[in-house]
Amino acid sequence: MRILVIGSGGREHALTWKLRESQYMEEIYCAPGNAGIAQEAECVPVDASRPHEILGLAKELKADLTVIGPEASLVAGVVDEFEGEGLWVVGPTKAAAQLEGSKIFAKQFMQRHHIPTARFAVAENFEDAFKALAGFGIPVVVKGDGLAAGKGVVVARRREEAEKTLVEFMREKTLGSAGERVVIEECLVGEELSFIALTDGRGVLPLVPTQDHKAVFDNDQGPNTGGMGAYSDDSILTERQRDYVLRRIVSPTLTGMAAEGTPYRGFLYVGLMMTADGPKVLEYNVRMGDPEAQPIMMRLRSDLVELFKGIRAAELGALDAHWSPNPAVCVVLASQGYPGKPEVGKVITGHEAAESQGGVKVFHAGTQFRDFQLLTAGGRVLGVTATAEDLPSAIERAYAAVSKIHFEGMHYRRDIGAKGLRHLGRALGPTNPVTRRAPDPLKL
Ligand code: AMP
Repeated sequence: MRILVIGSGGREHALTWKLRESQYMEEIYCAPGNAGIAQEAECVPVDASRPHEILGLAKELKADLTVIGPEASLVAGVVDEFEGEGLWVVGPTKAAAQLEGSKIFAKQFMQRHHIPTARFAVAENFEDAFKALAGFGIPVVVKGDGLAAGKGVVVARRREEAEKTLVEFMREKTLGSAGERVVIEECLVGEELSFIALTDGRGVLPLVPTQDHKAVFDNDQGPNTGGMGAYSDDSILTERQRDYVLRRIVSPTLTGMAAEGTPYRGFLYVGLMMTADGPKVLEYNVRMGDPEAQPIMMRLRSDLVELFKGIRAAELGALDAHWSPNPAVCVVLASQGYPGKPEVGKVITGHEAAESQGGVKVFHAGTQFRDFQLLTAGGRVLGVTATAEDLPSAIERAYAAVSKIHFEGMHYRRDIGAKGLRHLGRALGPTNPVTRRAPDPLKL
């Protein structure tokens, strides 16, 4: 099988790395890819925001299977183009991708189908937004309607901050057209987690649970980013919680989409807040999460193409995936300036030494090779991902690998997985050997 992966981030590196192992793989391509992906697959240039260009490339490469990584390609309608020509592609159609492409669509959809989510108001213009704000307490959350690479959400802790955000989004257009309309919503309290599943529209195959770290600094401080790290461990979600999420959230989402004439296929990512009133949906994403894809792919033992075949045959409900029981942890190394404008072109060293240790894989995001050197080329640069027999060891292993890597201005969070250690502490008790060995997350 000739396989093509679209995208250029850590998510696409993880997907390509996994697909390369598939028993069906004969040739693997990634477009446009990055310096790390180029070690696993042939990289070909493409403008991932242009569906027609992606389709043209797939035909030229005679791709049997195309996997779309980024939301922008999906929201632009790349799947419709492929399906129009009878080509095999993994991802939702343009209409179904509205679940991520428009936060207003997603909130109104949840309201129509009684899916638990934060109370909200929609505003089409600045005056209405200002008025709507008065109906909410503080903190309050302001979200631009469109795609904004994780930067279109502000959790405002003071009213002036919320007002300033409305001015920025709606008057100064800092998000471009993505901020012209907004959702204002109640701030939920609890722990966040990412529930990602594969679906053929009816059958659901949940992937292992993960927790992302969106804020740029330790202890969830500072502005939101695309994600500064993630870990996956079975203890994140109990069986009861998992069943609840499937029954009250995932199932009604799929039946709702089908009933509205826009059946949903592909990866479905549900960002959840585990509130005192139960799990509530913060957002839908219509693709794998990044960085979540990195620890998830590290734990996946099944052949990913086999799972994609299950979607195509609409037999996913009958399939089971095999997972490593071992947790995995991904620490994102970011450039100076990120999540604002990153400084790029810095020489990266130590990435090979970091990988020389067993159980570690360094996934690339913003990297490029030039003049025999590996250089930074984006905000998020590398995802250092490690797996080990328990969470404390996986965390230790990931940070030991991180300590070998250097580039000017590099910054990263030092508390990836810390919430997981607290879960373990609660689940196992302080005298359990695993908990006792747990490093203090803030001293890592
Ligand atoms: P979203 O892109 O909608 O998931 O928002 C990005 C991040 O903002 C989430 O991962 C949360 O950390 C935070 N967030 C979004 N909505 C809310 C909410 N209603 N209450 C509290 N935090 C939120």
